[in-house]
Amino acid sequence: MSESPLSSARSSRLGDWLSACAHCERIRLADGWRRPEPGECEDATLTHDICPDCIRQLYPKYARIANRLQKSEEARRFVQQQKTQAP
Ligand SMILES: [Zn+2]
Repeated sequence: MSESPLSSARSSRLGDWLSACAHCERIRLADGWRRPEPGECEDATLTHDICPDCIRQLYPKYARIANRLQKSEEARRFVQQQKTQAP
């Protein structure tokens, strides 16, 4: 057993970076952009980002990119659903 508890704690900490939309303050969670439940991402470090909805609203020029982002997001979610439904 060579894995020290310290290194595993550190690597789980690195997973706590979350993107927060600077405009609507929603946070990118595993199931998409939404407002977090109380305490849900208390320990997380938030990085400023912008969600696809706000890109569409604020930067109509980039709406096409946002649409594509959301489509890939939907595709990813669909694949995840398939995985969880599999026995
Ligand atoms: Zn937003």
